[in-house]
Amino acid sequence: MRPPLLPRWSVRSRILASILAVTALGMTVAGGSAYLIQRERILGEVDELLVARVEAARFVVTGEAAAEGEGVATAPEAAFATDREALEAVLARVIPGRNESALGIIGGAAALIPGVDVDVNLAADPAFVARVVEETAAGEVVMGTAVTPIGVLRYIAAPVDVAPTAERAVYVAAVDLEGELADVTSGFVIFALVALGALVAVGFVGWAVAGRLLRPIRRLRQTASRITVTDLHERIPVVGRDDVSELTETVNDMLGRLEASVTAQRRLLDDVRHELRTPLTIVRGHLELLDPGRPADVAATRDLVIDELDRMAGLVDDIELLTDADRSTMAMTSLDVADLTSGVSARAAVLPGHEWIVGETAHVTVRGDADRLTQAWLQLADNAAKYSPEGTPVVLGSTAAGGAVELWVRDRGPGIPDDARERIFERFGRVDAGRGIRGSGLGLPIVAAIAAAHGGYVTLQSGSTGSRFAVVIPVEGAGAVPVESDPLGEGSPE
Ligand code: ADP
Repeated sequence: MRPPLLPRWSVRSRILASILAVTALGMTVAGGSAYLIQRERILGEVDELLVARVEAARFVVTGEAAAEGEGVATAPEAAFATDREALEAVLARVIPGRNESALGIIGGAAALIPGVDVDVNLAADPAFVARVVEETAAGEVVMGTAVTPIGVLRYIAAPVDVAPTAERAVYVAAVDLEGELADVTSGFVIFALVALGALVAVGFVGWAVAGRLLRPIRRLRQTASRITVTDLHERIPVVGRDDVSELTETVNDMLGRLEASVTAQRRLLDDVRHELRTPLTIVRGHLELLDPGRPADVAATRDLVIDELDRMAGLVDDIELLTDADRSTMAMTSLDVADLTSGVSARAAVLPGHEWIVGETAHVTVRGDADRLTQAWLQLADNAAKYSPEGTPVVLGSTAAGGAVELWVRDRGPGIPDDARERIFERFGRVDAGRGIRGSGLGLPIVAAIAAAHGGYVTLQSGSTGSRFAVVIPVEGAGAVPVESDPLGEGSPE
């Protein structure tokens, strides 16, 4: 069940959101850092320019370059009689460039402006003039940034002092930062617009690609939701060769196994229904015909009914054994095959009507469930006893060869006809209705299931002189059993 509080985001949206987030982050970092680097470079250049302006002003007034932090001129080296004259000369000769302006302040008021057209008129903002006057009151050169109605200004202010007068003269040079940064800013705006366009394009392409990649998963989900237990034959088409196609193949394999298992269960149910119907019909028929007034009739019918019920009980037991063996509920341990052989021969020897001989004993170990292997081997011995003429010898033994060991039983019975070799290993499959001998037809399927659960199989050699059935399983540590090309092939049991 889906947690109720989580927002229902499709995988496609999540993939797209991640792609867009990463792309946007990358673009922002790239654009932002480029913008900041450019901006810092320009601000550095502006500061250098302003310092150069003050140096030029000093040169105009004194004919000498200024030492760092020094004002434009100090008496008495100056060639000018008054501060005003000196300031006029500076403003006339130090020409402001683009986005630049200058101002001469005398006695705390804007008094002189450059003789050329300038982009910013510093005199138009009295607050800025007052600020500069205040900052230069101590007679130092100051540099600062001011946000004013006429623009964001980076400025330098240097006192001019060529004659001792009461009125203080200050030379101010300023640069309009917005104007200076306009190129970088517009460049960044263009970058942002292009980045936005690219992001939209990435969004469309990402949406389409994610949709295309996820299409098989969508198909997988749709098919899976269509499939029910009654209709397991549908498979999902496998497109391409990638992780998704591998997932599709895995799901298809799983559906195949599921279908096989459901089919097997259904067949077992059908078989059981069919097999139980006969004894039930027999019991019902006899009970209907029973004359309760005749004691002999009652006794005979009673025996017959008990007999049929026993058969049904045996059938149910066999079905349980078969489903257990199919379920592979094995208690695997290391087993000595020689011990197993003597154990099985001792038990088989009590089966009446035959001479029991141990033909050969293999001295190897296997990994297996002792009870289940004994059960399978005894089943083969029981069949040999049932289907071969009374008094004939039955030989059993174990033979190790090529990493496998055979647990075999050989009889002198009628053998298995060619056309019945496969059938007798199917559930309820028998030769000629068991040749008149009672049985469920589940014995050999149980043996085959036990062999398979041990990683092996059953072989059969049969001819007119009898049959040889063998359970073939791997010797411990040998890995898998070499598969015989035709385990149920013809051949002499000898
Ligand atoms: P059941 O013995 O209950 O009929 P099995 O599965 O053990 O069922 O055997 C299936 C059929 O194979 C038997 O009905 C019998 O016809 C045949 N069969 C099995 N073992 C032998 C054997 N040793 N010799 C001849 N026929 C056999």
